[in-house]
Amino acid sequence: MSYATQKLAEEKVFKDPVHRYIHVRDQVIWDLINSREVQRLRRIKQLGTSYLVFHGAEHSRFNHSLGVYEIVRRIVDDIFHERPAWDESERLVVLCAALLHDLGHGPFSHSFEKVFHVDHEVFTREILLGDTEVNGILLKVAPDFPKKVAEVIAKTYPNKQVVSLISSQIDADRMDYLQRDAYYTGVSYGHFDMERILRVMRPVEDQVVIKSSGMHAVEDYIMSRYQMYWQVYFHPVARSAEVILRKILQRAKELSESGYKFEQPPTHFMAFFNRTFHLKDYLALDEGVLMTYFQLWMQERDPILSDLSDRFVNRRLFQYVDFDPGKDYRKLGELSQLFRKAGIDPDYYLIDDSTSDLPYDFYRPGEEEERLPIHLLMPAGEIKELSRSSQIVDAISGKRRTDYKLYFPAELLIDGKKKAVKQQILQMLREGGV
Ligand code: CA
Repeated sequence: MSYATQKLAEEKVFKDPVHRYIHVRDQVIWDLINSREVQRLRRIKQLGTSYLVFHGAEHSRFNHSLGVYEIVRRIVDDIFHERPAWDESERLVVLCAALLHDLGHGPFSHSFEKVFHVDHEVFTREILLGDTEVNGILLKVAPDFPKKVAEVIAKTYPNKQVVSLISSQIDADRMDYLQRDAYYTGVSYGHFDMERILRVMRPVEDQVVIKSSGMHAVEDYIMSRYQMYWQVYFHPVARSAEVILRKILQRAKELSESGYKFEQPPTHFMAFFNRTFHLKDYLALDEGVLMTYFQLWMQERDPILSDLSDRFVNRRLFQYVDFDPGKDYRKLGELSQLFRKAGIDPDYYLIDDSTSDLPYDFYRPGEEEERLPIHLLMPAGEIKELSRSSQIVDAISGKRRTDYKLYFPAELLIDGKKKAVKQQILQMLREGGV
């Protein structure tokens, strides 16, 4: 028997709070789960800094990756199996892509990627194709198999049915994270009838469609996604922690470049500071490593690095006000000057941050996150794009919502010296418009 079709002597199951059980029968999947690069995902939280707001949200990218795998496994083994429009030989590649789709995520991905201008998708590709345990396992399937898995994740794989199970507007990735993040944060949004959606998914020609009888379950899914974004993913307090994290990394980089003598030198970050990093430098990082640095940096002589680290570790976060950079750009300049006058460095203590989402869209050429639309299979066999059948979805289609905030350390503005300037700052912040 070839490695690609080899089954375990006995099925393995993982207990999972969202899907109850995750089933593994394939030797390849079992070996991948036990590889170093997949185990590393246990040390990276799925929701980054959100645990500082929702204390239950400590689940890892490992949890989520297994969940995405399980959803795809159910689709291909229980729903698509033996349907003429589904090519059975795609089973293993889509299962592997599901399990490995987030492999390149690093510690606190969003902040880390912003500061060091790296991209987790590039690392995913490097882990799949480079000198890693994951690559060794995939190579045993076939010489071109690692490349195929990488293509599915990069959405360039020729069979679009396979691609859309991993990344479309209703894919296994989103279906898992919405439910999982709802479960661990404890919010009441994010729940929808996934069993129903899976049952009405159909492979046709070059796509996966939803039988029109499942439209209401899909509407519910889109609404949960919409609400999760505003209630959880864009939470302004979690973003405050992200802002501080970005500033810690930025300060450490700046100090290192200016020749500052660290008590605890930023050894693990040097390759990222001077952009000479390789995959092994990236894989050596996880959230435990970063937290250790922040703990130690609380004792640094540099007051900014030590203060920011203390803020992150002990959750002394920045306050925020609504801020529209289009309207209030000049005010931001004035505020920066007042911060300087008050002896507070605005580069580290006055930060504007924006975030946005598009709840559902049917056609977005050239957008950074172009995703396949949701198509309904009508009773007579024709195919109709979702927003043309659903008024609810039509109402929120294509409307990008952006949230702008301005972050600052409120308590530094209240006590101590330079009272008049500080009062002027508080007045401006309170006035709105900013
Ligand atoms: Ca994911």
